Amino acid sequence: MGDFMKLKLITLLFFIFILQACDLPAQISSQDKVAMNGELDLSEWKHEDKLIQLNGEWKFYWKQLLNPEDFSEGSSNSEARIIDLLGIWNDPSIKDKPLSNDGYATYRLKVSNTTLNEVLSLKIPYMYSSYKLWVDGQLMATNGQVGIDKSTSIPDKKPQVIHFSPNTDTFIITLQISNFHHIDGGILDPIIFGTSKNIYASHEKDIFFQSILIGFLLLAGIYHIGLGVFRKVEPYFFYFGALCLVAAFRNLMVDNVFFTKIFPNIPWEIVNKLDYISLYSHVPLLAMVLYPLYPKESSKWFTIVTIVVTGIFNLLTLFTGSKIFLSIEVFFHIFMIICVCYVFIVLIRSLKSKHEERYYLLIGIVLLMVSILLDLAVEFLLLPDVNLYPIGLVFLMICLSLVISRRLSHSLDLSKNLATDLAQLNSELEEKVEARTNQLLHTNKKLAELNDKLKNMALIDGLTNIPNRRQFDEYFKEQYEACAKNNIPLSILFLDIDYFKFFNDLYGHQRGDECLKQVAQELDKQLHALPNGLAARYGGEEFVCLIPKLRQAEVGRIANNINRKIEQLKIAHENSPLSEYVTLSIGVFTATPSAQIDKDTMLKYADDALYQAKDKGRNQVVQHGDGSGVS
Ligand code: GH3
Ligand code: MG
Ligand code: MG
Repeated sequence: MGDFMKLKLITLLFFIFILQACDLPAQISSQDKVAMNGELDLSEWKHEDKLIQLNGEWKFYWKQLLNPEDFSEGSSNSEARIIDLLGIWNDPSIKDKPLSNDGYATYRLKVSNTTLNEVLSLKIPYMYSSYKLWVDGQLMATNGQVGIDKSTSIPDKKPQVIHFSPNTDTFIITLQISNFHHIDGGILDPIIFGTSKNIYASHEKDIFFQSILIGFLLLAGIYHIGLGVFRKVEPYFFYFGALCLVAAFRNLMVDNVFFTKIFPNIPWEIVNKLDYISLYSHVPLLAMVLYPLYPKESSKWFTIVTIVVTGIFNLLTLFTGSKIFLSIEVFFHIFMIICVCYVFIVLIRSLKSKHEERYYLLIGIVLLMVSILLDLAVEFLLLPDVNLYPIGLVFLMICLSLVISRRLSHSLDLSKNLATDLAQLNSELEEKVEARTNQLLHTNKKLAELNDKLKNMALIDGLTNIPNRRQFDEYFKEQYEACAKNNIPLSILFLDIDYFKFFNDLYGHQRGDECLKQVAQELDKQLHALPNGLAARYGGEEFVCLIPKLRQAEVGRIANNINRKIEQLKIAHENSPLSEYVTLSIGVFTATPSAQIDKDTMLKYADDALYQAKDKGRNQVVQHGDGSGVS
């Protein structure tokens, strides 16, 4: 359903409720029969299934409290005048001069030719402010205590329904009313007559309607106060809840006046004070609802003024007697009309806003204002009381709840979309994290590889690809300490290519490099075959080898074997005066490391041995301390 349809439906429902509450159909149907000259003749009345308002001309005895016996035959009742029952006796529009509001009187009506052979009933409204009612000779209802002055009369506010079975088709109603407490005297709402069944049905309908209204307001009050407590950003929920609760409370004091049925002992004056205070309190609460809804279009001063004015009225109501606080009500009604006008101005201003929900609020508030205006009109015209304002409130509540549901649905959509977006972002994030992790792992691996490479580069000779001097130094230190600890021998071999300068001269540097590589690889291979053996390039065409554990003689053999192996590589060296192939000279030193012989000394001795090998003609092995070449 579109927004416009919803709004139309709400407005339609509102007017159906209003008509129902005014009970217009019943009033219209009863218009065809009114009492004349103190008698209501029902012989031609055709609507037996309907109810009759006992309106029209009743006999009226001012300043007399007469019992049914006083009208028995022979008694004088010359002072009777005729008055329209429906209407307070101090109503200024009465044809004869209006009576004073304080006073007492007896009303009397003869109802004849009822032709209703059933139990009959009267629905008696609240009157100002105490009454006593007889049907024929039987006292049927009292409200408070009827008296001839303020001290003897006690006011009360108890509408009631009575049932009776007249012996004939005619019966007489005698009604005493006294008023010394209210500013109006007499009776404002109609007495309704009908068969018991019909009256009962109508009464039940009234009670049902009023109970529903109170229940609705109560529930809405609790619900909105709850919303307000949890949604402090939207304070109008709270105020609207409070407004509904106050309206529910006020509804206990009108129509069937449930309040006096629940608390029968609470005095009339207090019930009235509560009634008026709760009525007045609607205005500031309404202003408090309105301001947060239309912060731009309305002013907070409006709320402040309503609070101050209502505060004054409430204090007066609380601390003055009934005559005073009831007479100021009219001024409050004038204030209410001003407030309603202001609210309409705010609503007109609000039309400019582009807010989607403005029509709902507008219709809700307009309906409420209409109901208030109708109530005020009824009040000023002194018409039978109707109470339409709570219906307006219920419709504002319906509109507000539509606004709330709309917002809620929008929020739910939004949070659903956000959740979807979030889930998508999350999964994207997971993918990204995974990709990044992989990338990082890859980079780490590369870095580790590079690190290894760097480490290798630092420890491996770039040309020959065997350990360089630095690695030799570290390894020598390690082995030196290990051998010293275990008391085992360690041998150093210094190796130098013979006449390598000539080699370069003849074959060029590149071939020289190739030769160095070949020699290095062979040395590496030989030393790897030994436990913990190491061959390294010491610099230029010089190499160094470490052989732990083995004794001197063994090492001598190994050195010679190396020499042979190099020659067997058959690297041509035509410039060599010694051999047609590349040869080595090797100096060897073997010792068990100890405090007596440090590393440098060991190196020096091995170097010395190499020099000796060169001196002795090259292509040979010299072991330090041996003196003789081992070939
Ligand atoms: P000796 O038998 O006395 O050792 O004579 P030698 O010529 O080998 O000795 P010398 O120290 O005079 O010459 C060493 C030569 O080794 C000099 C240099 O050109 C050559 N050499 C040193 N390092 C390299 C290198 O990395 N590559 C090449 N191709 N030649 C090198
Ligand atoms: Mg050399
Ligand atoms: Mg050399």
